[in-house]
Amino acid sequence: MKIADIRTHVLLDPGYDREATSSAQDTIVVEVESDDGLVGIGETDLNAWVARACIEAPGTHTMDRGLRESLLGRDPSDPAGLWEELYVGTAMTGRRGAGVHALGALDIALWDLLGKAEGVPCWRLWGEAAHETLTPYASLQPEVSSFDAYVESMVGWGSRAREIGFRAVKLEATFSGPYVHKGLAGPDERVVEVVQSVRAAVGTELTILVDVQYAFGRDVERALRMAEALAEHDVFFLETPLWPDDLERYAELCARSPVRIAAGEWLSTRHEFVDLVERGGVQVAQPDIGRVGGFTEARRVCDLAARRERLVVPHAWKTGISVAAAAQLATVTPHMPFFEFLPAELCESRLRKALVQDELVFSEGGLGLPEKPGLGVELDRGVLAEFAEVARRAAPVTS
Ligand SMILES: [Mg+2]
Repeated sequence: MKIADIRTHVLLDPGYDREATSSAQDTIVVEVESDDGLVGIGETDLNAWVARACIEAPGTHTMDRGLRESLLGRDPSDPAGLWEELYVGTAMTGRRGAGVHALGALDIALWDLLGKAEGVPCWRLWGEAAHETLTPYASLQPEVSSFDAYVESMVGWGSRAREIGFRAVKLEATFSGPYVHKGLAGPDERVVEVVQSVRAAVGTELTILVDVQYAFGRDVERALRMAEALAEHDVFFLETPLWPDDLERYAELCARSPVRIAAGEWLSTRHEFVDLVERGGVQVAQPDIGRVGGFTEARRVCDLAARRERLVVPHAWKTGISVAAAAQLATVTPHMPFFEFLPAELCESRLRKALVQDELVFSEGGLGLPEKPGLGVELDRGVLAEFAEVARRAAPVTS
C-alpha cells in the first residue's frame, strides 16, 4: 500500500459569526488516499487556512520539508514512524504550535486509513478495550446575549443532555476573561449561580464539569475562591481558570484547590504536557487529539498521565471527526473517565451537526464501543462541498 494523494478541505459553517467564540464554526478536513482507493480522514483545530498552508507548503531543505510532499508515495502502515519523520523533517517550521496541529490532522487520517485497511476500528490497533461502554460529556455553551437567557438555556440543555443519555455535562460558564462574549460579562458569583441552577434541574447523579476559559488570568487567589465555591456543589473539575503560560501559578493553584484543575486544550506534543503536569501540577490533562499532534502523540500523553497518576479528558470542540477520534482513544484508555462530546442536538454549529455520518449512539448507560473500521465515520460529501464553497467565498485570495 502506498499514499497516492492527500487532499485538504477548508470548511466554513454558512452561519458563522466572527464575534462568536467557537472553533466548531470552521475546520480543515484532510483525506489521505492509498493507491488501492482507501481514504483516511482527519481534522485539526486551528485556523483552517493556516493548517492547509502547513500541509501543502513545499519544503526547501532537509530540516523544513513539506508535510504533504513527504508523505506522497510512502507506505502508510506505520503512522508512528511517519510521525517521527515528519516531526523531525519539519523542525524549523514545526515542533510546536501550528505545524504540529497540522501534522495531527494527517496522523489521525493515517490511523483511520490503517484501520480501514485492516478492517478494524483504530483502537484495536492499539490494544484492548479498557471500558465496556464510553462516557462522553456534553459540552454546553449557549450562544445568547443576556445572563438570564444563558441560565435558562443552560438549564434546558442540561436536562436535555440527561434525556439523550449523557451522564456528564460541562458548563462553559465564562463571565470574564478573553472568551467572554455577547453581553455576558459579570461577577464571578455567576459561575456558581449557573452550577446551582443546573444542579437543581438535573439532580445529583449527573456529573458537572465547569470551564471558565481562562477567566482569572494570572490571579491565583481569585481562581482559588472559585474552586472553593464550586467544591460545595460537587463539581468534577474546573477547567482552565488561569492563562496557560503561567505554570508556576497553576502549580500553586493545583496544590491548594479542593477541586481538580484541568488544562491542556491548546498544547502541542507530549513535551508541553510534561511541563503542564510536572511543573504546573495539573490533575486532568486535556489534549486535543488533532492539536497535540494526532493519535500518535495523544497516546503518548495518555501514557505520561498514567505514569504520573493523572486523568486524561480530551478536548474536542469541532466536528464529528474529532468526536469519533476521542471515542477511539477513550476506548483503550482506563484513566479517561470522560471525553468531550459536542452534542449535535445541543450546539449551534451546522458543521458539527452535518459533516459526518454513522456516529456512535447511546445504549443503556453510555455509548457503545466503536466497531466500524478506522474512525468509524464517513464524510457527507454534499455538506463538504457546500461548506468548502462558503470558505472559498470568505477568503477568495487564499482558498
Ligand atoms: Mg475549554
